[in-house]
Amino acid sequence: MKFVEAAYIPDNDRATLCVSSQVGCKMGCLFCMTGKQGFQGNLSAGEIVNQLRSIPEWHNISNIVYMGMGEPFDNLENVLQSLDILTSEWGMAMSPRRITVSTIGVIPAMREFLEKSQCHLAVSLHTPFDDERRSLMPIQNVYPIEEVVKEIRKFDFSGQRRVSFEYIMFDGVNDSPQHVKEMARLLNGLQCRVNLIRFHSIPASPLKGSPDERIFEFRDSLTSKGIFTTIRASRGQDIQAACGLLSTKEIQKNKGIS
Ligand code: SF4
Repeated sequence: MKFVEAAYIPDNDRATLCVSSQVGCKMGCLFCMTGKQGFQGNLSAGEIVNQLRSIPEWHNISNIVYMGMGEPFDNLENVLQSLDILTSEWGMAMSPRRITVSTIGVIPAMREFLEKSQCHLAVSLHTPFDDERRSLMPIQNVYPIEEVVKEIRKFDFSGQRRVSFEYIMFDGVNDSPQHVKEMARLLNGLQCRVNLIRFHSIPASPLKGSPDERIFEFRDSLTSKGIFTTIRASRGQDIQAACGLLSTKEIQKNKGIS
């Protein structure tokens, strides 16, 4: 049996659904439970959309983020088809401005997505330094973040379409003033925002989340350098709803490990 996760995140005036695009993932990011499961398969466009239709609250959902299990641009065809179903008049007629697709930076597929879709883009950045990013995210060996940002600069984000950079804060790893300086250089002049994310510890990993005061300082320093920066509200920590944790629990239950 295979498991995928979809997380329903209600907020004051909006309700967001976080959907998966694959079962497991090939990308092996150090901080991710889904990566530790390995790759078990792509989801079809129907299976992606079905995550929305399967939850009782689906009528309330105002926003969708492709930030669950898997790398959406490693399953581009099905992801684009699912976006078509969600945004077309003949489908669910959602505004593309209410949908964000997240990637670790698979450049060719990202380019195709930016050409074919009007949905927002989120890029998992996590550190601006080459060596450090390589140790956190093997994709850096193939598509360095510098090249990813260069590609993004070719597209217009001055209108309603948005590009954001996701930055998980790891204690003593990527939360120093040097990181702020390098981020400012990397993103200089690009119309974008940075979302800082508190890290949910995962089993058997030495990585820990940065303390709140350092996250606030980091936000303030980036803001003072002209980069619009927010701290993502953290929900679901108590039910282990970080990417891959719930499904790993289910897999273990199924195998009789608990
Ligand atoms: S963070 Fe995303 S791309 Fe990296 S292993 Fe996890 S699911 Fe895959």
